[in-house]
Amino acid sequence: MVMMTQSRLLCLYSVLIFLGFTWFISTFEYFCNNDELLEVRERQIDTYKQQVTDKNREIENIQTKMQEYEEKIQRLSHLLQIKTCKPVAGDNDPTLPTLYLITPTYSRLEQKADLTRLSHTLLHVRNLHWIVVEDSEVKTRLVTNFLANCGIHNTHLNTLTPKQVKLKAGDPQWLKPRGVLQRNAGLTWIRTALNPSKNKGVVYFADDDNTYSLELFEEMRQTQKVSVWPVGIVGGLRFESPMVQNGSVIGWHTFWKPERTFALDMAGFAVNLAIIFSHSNAVFSNNVPRGYLENSLLLQLGVKLKDLEPRAENCNKVLVWHTRTEKTKTKNEKITPSDINIEV
Ligand code: UDP
Ligand code: MN
Repeated sequence: MVMMTQSRLLCLYSVLIFLGFTWFISTFEYFCNNDELLEVRERQIDTYKQQVTDKNREIENIQTKMQEYEEKIQRLSHLLQIKTCKPVAGDNDPTLPTLYLITPTYSRLEQKADLTRLSHTLLHVRNLHWIVVEDSEVKTRLVTNFLANCGIHNTHLNTLTPKQVKLKAGDPQWLKPRGVLQRNAGLTWIRTALNPSKNKGVVYFADDDNTYSLELFEEMRQTQKVSVWPVGIVGGLRFESPMVQNGSVIGWHTFWKPERTFALDMAGFAVNLAIIFSHSNAVFSNNVPRGYLENSLLLQLGVKLKDLEPRAENCNKVLVWHTRTEKTKTKNEKITPSDINIEV
């Protein structure tokens, strides 16, 4: 009886040990498998997380591209407006940079005709501030009245060119630089009246007798540092132009002094307002060698050749012309005098 119980107990023990061992092995395996499973799941989660990050980045890129396209569409639709000759004066958009145009002007029989023609061009340009600087001791009645009625947002300034640096009647046009102090007065106004952190814009020196395509203004509005483009009928050539290779300016198509760092006409470049502010001492000078006016200013502004942004279809399009108004002969006034009370 005792023997029976002992062998049974032994049997029971063996069975229990076997079951315990099997349970231990299977549990151990289960834990092992579970760890592996966890690892697989974690790896999967990491992959999904990476995929989500990648997709988010893709979405961000698409959003940036969309914004770029929207800006492009806006610019193109505005160009279309220009091409179809729909006036846009007063059609201002606060998100666009403002164009600050500095125009020196002086008293002559052709002055009002030149200013009228220029103002009619500018009436088609959005976000424009016209800084008109008279070469005179006092502001003249003609220009004051003209600006009051021209319909363009403007600032009227004056400063007289001293006799010793002024061209005399009969002097060749190239003998002395013109409009130097007037452009500087415009720059001083910009640097004192505007706020570099609030005002975003582009500065352009627009002589009163040139001819400007409306497209030029939309080209210069994109200026990040300094924009450049060809100028028609100037320098004894059909046009002068920056020479462009792979989107960069590598030299100058000009007959006169191509060795200048910036062999540019006044009408051939525009500068971002921020650069005018960051180089607050940069001004035009009457004392630079002939033809070096533009070059000298750009050097003082710390501009490098690589900073230049070729515009107007990579400098393949003439959008501004150095036209000059013929000096009027009034020899018949002696015989048939006109009413001097009528403004011309
Ligand atoms: N200008 C000026 N005072 C002068 C001569 C010219 O303010 O004694 C102005 C002129 O009105 C023009 C700019 O300076 O806006 C350039 O002058 P101009 O057109 O006579 O020069 P060019 O066409 O020969 O470079
Ligand atoms: Mn001129």
